[in-house]
Amino acid sequence: MKVVAYSIKSFEKEFLAKANQKKHDITLISNPLSRETAAFAEGKDAVVVFTNDDVSAPVVNMLADMGIKYIATRSVGTDHIDKETAAVRSIKLANVPEYSPQAIAEHTLALALALSRKIIKADQHSHNFNFKLDELIGFNFSGKTVGIIGLGHIGITAGNIFRGLGCKVIGYDIRENVNAPGIDQVSLDELLICSDIISLHAPLTADTKYLINKVTLYLMKKGVMILNTSRGALVNTEDMLHAIESGHVGYFGMDVYEREKGLFFEDHHTDQFKDATLLQLLQYPNVIVTPHQAFLTNEALQQIADQTIRNLDFWQQNKCVGKSCACAKQCSVQQEIVNTKVN
Ligand code: NAD
Repeated sequence: MKVVAYSIKSFEKEFLAKANQKKHDITLISNPLSRETAAFAEGKDAVVVFTNDDVSAPVVNMLADMGIKYIATRSVGTDHIDKETAAVRSIKLANVPEYSPQAIAEHTLALALALSRKIIKADQHSHNFNFKLDELIGFNFSGKTVGIIGLGHIGITAGNIFRGLGCKVIGYDIRENVNAPGIDQVSLDELLICSDIISLHAPLTADTKYLINKVTLYLMKKGVMILNTSRGALVNTEDMLHAIESGHVGYFGMDVYEREKGLFFEDHHTDQFKDATLLQLLQYPNVIVTPHQAFLTNEALQQIADQTIRNLDFWQQNKCVGKSCACAKQCSVQQEIVNTKVN
């Protein structure tokens, strides 16, 4: 299969090469997919993208006009893809439905501990040979209540890590009776009211956009810690900023930002105009921002590359990608129904 892969970072190349074993003819380019770069897909069968690529309706239409049949994203989330337009233009979609949930869950813990134990400030002080303890008092996680929103692969893994620290873990999911031993499933309101730490692990959908807003923030305990390693737009960042300014939110760890597209993954330190909200957030010592790096472990990168190549393999053999199917038509589900009827 002839493929062009967009937004490829140099560190990804060896993982993709190892997964591909020269099966597919893949052109790797560092530019993100956009209206300007869509032309690189001319003559290819498939396009491989990442979270901050522009896979909106106009771009999908451009790709379809060039004869692209498949789009595979190297991510779990598919919120960056206009699935309806892809379905109309008969382009099949695949994601990486599950890869090393530990990578994201462990990064969530890293944010949590760095915030609670003031690790960034302590390290800055140490670099200045200031070893005073006055500003470094933290809190124990043991005995605290952690609320997990989204009890999927990552949410459950994060919950289990927090249980290991001695936390009481509660969770909320739109699916009822999720199989998550040791995690009590509660209503969203109960989770918001009872949790000392709230960690977001739901996908970005119309329902979850701005789930964390001025109403839900003020249902939470004063001093709450909020962790977002899911998608930036789950949080209304302006409302969050006000809640941090007022002291209602005690700590905020964010690996994702609602306006990260075109910003994260690149060095922008010389930009004349910088995102004002992000600049304000960064002034608070009780806020930690990481640049969408929760997935960034050797193990996760190899699994992402392996699954992406597997998706291309299936398509080349004219087979459905199964669990990786991200098509609006949910062809994998329809396939299962057909198979059940045949059996
Ligand atoms: P998953 O599909 O296994 O789990 C998502 C869970 O969220 C499911 O249980 C689903 O029922 C639940 N959910 C859906 N809508 C909800 C709602 N309105 N309210 C509450 N729960 C809801 O996905 P996952 O592998 O656990 O990944 C979760 C998210 O993490 C992804 O969608 C992606 O956005 C994000 N992610 C971020 C990184 C990163 O590097 N920061 C890496 C991978 C994934």
